[in-house]
Amino acid sequence: MSSPLERYRAIVDRRSSARYLLARSVEVGPADGLTLPEMWEAHDRGLRAYQRLVEAGSAPQPLRGSLMDLKWRIATELFIACCFCEHDCQVDRRRSGGRCGVLEPRIVSQFMHLGEEEALVPSFTVFFAGCNLRCAFCQNYEISTRPDRGQEVPAPAMAARLETVLKAGGRNVNWVGGEPTPNLPYVLEVLTRAEANIAQVWNSNMYLSEKAMSLLDGAVDVYLTDLKFGNDACAERLSGVRDYMRIVTRNHLLAGSHCEVIVRHLMLPGHLDCCTLPVLDWLAGHMPDAIVNIMAQFRPEHRADEHPDLRTRLSRFDYIRAVEHARRIGLELI
Ligand code: SF4
Repeated sequence: MSSPLERYRAIVDRRSSARYLLARSVEVGPADGLTLPEMWEAHDRGLRAYQRLVEAGSAPQPLRGSLMDLKWRIATELFIACCFCEHDCQVDRRRSGGRCGVLEPRIVSQFMHLGEEEALVPSFTVFFAGCNLRCAFCQNYEISTRPDRGQEVPAPAMAARLETVLKAGGRNVNWVGGEPTPNLPYVLEVLTRAEANIAQVWNSNMYLSEKAMSLLDGAVDVYLTDLKFGNDACAERLSGVRDYMRIVTRNHLLAGSHCEVIVRHLMLPGHLDCCTLPVLDWLAGHMPDAIVNIMAQFRPEHRADEHPDLRTRLSRFDYIRAVEHARRIGLELI
């Protein structure tokens, strides 16, 4: 087994290239005149060529008409009948925000974050306004529930910023929110323009559609995911999403097949048996190479007091049991 985050560390140490630069080196030709299904066919051919570059350890040679250009082009097509996440609103996002309420991307803050997992810091973190989930216990609700907050930052300006971030010692670009998923075209546009060899981190609730996951393949280097619940009933009651387990576990498996994954699990009070232990068991059984962060910093914020189980703090005993269980079943914890 390779050591954890080996490829990510190679990018940070300049021994390897960010994946988006390799995807920029795969020629797929102009998308003008292609139908959307034809674009997907070209995309899938491009992904196979991209995979060969990754396996060969090739140096990037960015060109026009690349796989990254095509990813951005497909995302802009999907933007007018949005299916970036499994809510599948099919709304024209130029006019309607769908369930997430996000129109054009708005950025609430962008700064060098020192509080993320140790391997990631300093992490240039971009916080988008808005989210597609409605978590009653959201610890970031001032951003996630207000898609109108923040400001628009043109993609060319953000692309230019990444070079500055790299020179200032940033180890990665950490796309988060709220949630980055509704803003997928923006992120892809930035990556068609940027030049900096800096790792891309997708920091997400993982309720994306398979199409969005496919567009991220070759664009990001590390998934920093949330695996919040161990069953659908808790997910629907506390986050307002259906079919959570099928969708989010599917996407974790896809993420693990694309690149490296750090999984966060925020423990909820009283949810050791229904959520935490099933999450840890699923990870041990399906993603034994994933790095896992069991988080104990739950606070009864936002609408937590609407749910009696969330009106309290996490028990220290439950946290210790979770950590012991994770170690016993062989998970790599950070
Ligand atoms: S990102 Fe999800 S919630 Fe938002 S409009 Fe698109 S499909 Fe709907």
